[in-house]
Amino acid sequence: MSAVLIVEDNDVNRELLREFVEELGHEVNEAHDGKTALAQISEDPPDLVLLDIQMPEMDGYEVIRQLRQEARFQDLKVVALTAYAMIGDKEKALQAGFTAYLTKPIDGKKAELTIRELLATSDKAVPV
Ligand code: MN
Repeated sequence: MSAVLIVEDNDVNRELLREFVEELGHEVNEAHDGKTALAQISEDPPDLVLLDIQMPEMDGYEVIRQLRQEARFQDLKVVALTAYAMIGDKEKALQAGFTAYLTKPIDGKKAELTIRELLATSDKAVPV
């Protein structure tokens, strides 16, 4: 079981994501804005962050920018979530420092595979 932080301003989307990630067997925490997310990550770093790009006040790009400025969060796995995806968005997200990219509405199979792969890597990195 891994700890996953879901950062999403839309209550319905956040709840759906929570149910989805919990069904994959992970522990879920939630943040509804970027500022809260940064505070939660600093206090209790999760194994994976699902980060909505479109949020008021502080968007996902600003959150990832601030995270990657900190040495201890260089390797934190952060997946960008975006609606109204356009050509070039994925490249833009990866260049901004996101580890992976998913479009909304979430494709369950694709999301499961992405989350599984990212968390499998993190499990292997744990010293035994
Ligand atoms: Mn949003």
